[in-house]
Amino acid sequence: MTTLSNNVADLAPHDRTRPLKKGKVKPARDLCSECGLCDTRWVAYVKQACPFLHQQFEAMELEVHGRSRNLDLEEELYFGVYQRMLTARLKQPIIGAQWTGIVSRLSIKAIETGLVDAVLCVQQSEEDRFTPVPILARTADEILAARVNKATLSPNLEVLEQLSGSNIKRLLVIGVGCQTQAFRAIQNTLPLDAVYILGMPCVDNVSRAGLETFLKSTSKSPDTVIHYEFMQDFYIHFHHSNGKSELVPFFGLDTPKVKDIFAPSCLSCFDYVNAGADLVIGYMGAKFGYQWLTVRNSRGEQLLQLVEPELEIQPVTSSGNRHAAVQQGIDAYNQSIRLPSWMASIVGWFVQRIGPQGLEYSRFSIDSHFTRNALWVWRHHGEKAEKHIPLFAKKIVSQYRLPS
Ligand code: FAD
Ligand code: SF4
Repeated sequence: MTTLSNNVADLAPHDRTRPLKKGKVKPARDLCSECGLCDTRWVAYVKQACPFLHQQFEAMELEVHGRSRNLDLEEELYFGVYQRMLTARLKQPIIGAQWTGIVSRLSIKAIETGLVDAVLCVQQSEEDRFTPVPILARTADEILAARVNKATLSPNLEVLEQLSGSNIKRLLVIGVGCQTQAFRAIQNTLPLDAVYILGMPCVDNVSRAGLETFLKSTSKSPDTVIHYEFMQDFYIHFHHSNGKSELVPFFGLDTPKVKDIFAPSCLSCFDYVNAGADLVIGYMGAKFGYQWLTVRNSRGEQLLQLVEPELEIQPVTSSGNRHAAVQQGIDAYNQSIRLPSWMASIVGWFVQRIGPQGLEYSRFSIDSHFTRNALWVWRHHGEKAEKHIPLFAKKIVSQYRLPS
């Protein structure tokens, strides 16, 4: 006869565990990115799965792509394992999408062609445009309602609780790096037959309160912002509900105020380019108006083929030299220097014309963020810096002179 205790022992760890109670301090404490894993029974695996407790790029890349990145090849050092890289825009852009809407269109095709049963994506709350509401979407309308970035930490993985008992067996997951890393670590324990990950690059995310501070210190009309992006022309482009656009030069940011708003998770993150996704869609390696696509493996290729006929494609390009600008940025950030707006506009004008473009712009952004984040980790979590900062990031950071 089987005893109750034997039955319990036979259960998988996630079937013996409850989600953490809402409001309880998460295992990664101040470094938690609220990825949603701890709001599910899969919190059982948090010690191995949480990217802020146990980062494991090499093992993840090996398992997902069949090899880890080659640190001696500059493009892999920066952008991770990949098979193909291109820039593209939808011939018929989706109105209201963050860029041209390739992510939403591809997701709709994945449902319509039967490649997957559902798409994990993020809608917004009815009351607030920037409050994320993750869902398992099964229709084109549900996917379209998730278009455009909610530029705040989003608990995407909390919806994994809804998988059991649903008839979802094939899932497309849309997410940023920390969500991808946690998902990959528990993927094999989920009741799924097939998984595809469409990742986005991500940096400098904020809590909802942090976003308020950012908008108030940066935009002339913070309450009407419906969409914004840090663009490759070195300006932040805000779009307002009255249809107007507002451009603010990066170099005019109120550094002393803005410095503290980014989530500690994002100040300690080195997964800007979403290393564990099958396909990554961002913008920063492309010229203005285009999106930047990185196909990492054959599943990523399968995803891209769903929309390829609908894309206007161009090869990736690279020009300029980022190094001096990155070094100046490190020193200015460390001293919390804020340029007057007239000077910021002049600097912006020059950098836009002679500064890094295409892949070199991506490297500029990666260098700037990795140096800042390495400094932040050394200063705030010195005890974990050696293990937490991955080899590829150490190699990138070592090109610069950092303040002590
Ligand atoms: P759309 O068709 O508009 O679809 C957007 C998708 O984003 C939706 O499916 C939605 O589910 C998902 N989403 C929205 N908010 C979140 C969230 N908070 N977490 C997870 N998923 C979300 N690209 C760069 O090149 N450099 C960057 O620094 C960069 N930072 C980003 C920061 C954040 C927080 C996000 C969400 C994205 C970032 N991206 C970045 C990606 C880029 O801004 C676009 O999202 C991407 O190019 C897709 O554009 P699209 O028009 O195809 O997307
Ligand atoms: Fe849990 Fe995710 Fe926070 Fe890590 S980042 S503690 S896995 S919710």
